[in-house]
Amino acid sequence: MSNKADRAMEVLRVEGDPEVAEVAVIRFRGDDGKSVECVDGLAPPLTRQQKWIINISTQFGCPVGCPFCDAAFAYHGNPTADELLAQVRWGLDRHPAELRNTCEKLKVHFARMGEPSLNPSCLEAAEELPNIIPTKGLWCCMATVAPTGRDGFFQQLYNLKERLYRGRFQLQFSVQSTNEQDRNRLIPMSHWSLNELAEFGKNFHEPGDRKVVLNFALAHDVEFDPEVIVDTFDPAHFAAKLTPVNPTARGAEQGFQTVLRSEHEKTIQAACDALTERDFDVVLSIGDEREDEVGSNCGQAVRVERETSVRQALANGSVGIHTEGPTRSQL
Ligand code: SF4
Repeated sequence: MSNKADRAMEVLRVEGDPEVAEVAVIRFRGDDGKSVECVDGLAPPLTRQQKWIINISTQFGCPVGCPFCDAAFAYHGNPTADELLAQVRWGLDRHPAELRNTCEKLKVHFARMGEPSLNPSCLEAAEELPNIIPTKGLWCCMATVAPTGRDGFFQQLYNLKERLYRGRFQLQFSVQSTNEQDRNRLIPMSHWSLNELAEFGKNFHEPGDRKVVLNFALAHDVEFDPEVIVDTFDPAHFAAKLTPVNPTARGAEQGFQTVLRSEHEKTIQAACDALTERDFDVVLSIGDEREDEVGSNCGQAVRVERETSVRQALANGSVGIHTEGPTRSQL
């Protein structure tokens, strides 16, 4: 695959803490709407040699429209496979070349702005990754809300995982709640039900694979009932991951308050205990609060870049940056 996208991309800003995560805003095709953010990150206290995480955007903005996410305010189409891989190469090229060959776990997350199953180029990029990082340290991760109508994508993803990533692939469902009505509010695009997630994940997970992760970004007034998880999902195939709701501008506007990292954190310990007693692996992912300080949550970096550009354009007496794109219905 050519590196045309690398030559056409512009790195507009890089910010963050090199000991946690650095976020880049990258513009493709000379078009502000075709901006993405990608993250060159670590998992403290592990060193980069032990674990290195490169998190890329799978779409220009995101058409799903989750009410707590800054990426949801604009959608401008899909990057090509080359543009997806250009983000990976940006992260790799910031560090000594030998590190990509010797890193014990180099995870490429298709998990930043965008819903990967809505961009078929994600499959092409995942297919190509082992040629860029030809070591057993390479891991591939995809986080999805599992929109309906994408069965073909997920079947191809299974085939790809079987061929190239057995034991080194992580599928994560962004479930958000155990209540389907809450899920409809939090994921405002038609998506698989809990039962459909359970059925697909059970078949996706093969011996030797990492369990499929059920991710819940716990917010106040959003139902999280461990009994529903126990009744619906098989702990032989699924693990549960509880994360904070990231402090985004849209989340604040919509009044979302995180449960984790708040004084209410203790209330979910009983739910965790209920799951572990029923053989579920539970990851309580508090994260590193420095991530919030560097603005490394979905959509934040592009939003800040756009706001800065608008301010500059107004100061110069010119306009010309757009902040809204085609809506979900125009997909
Ligand atoms: S949380 Fe993910 S799926 Fe939802 S709008 Fe943001 S990027 Fe899209």
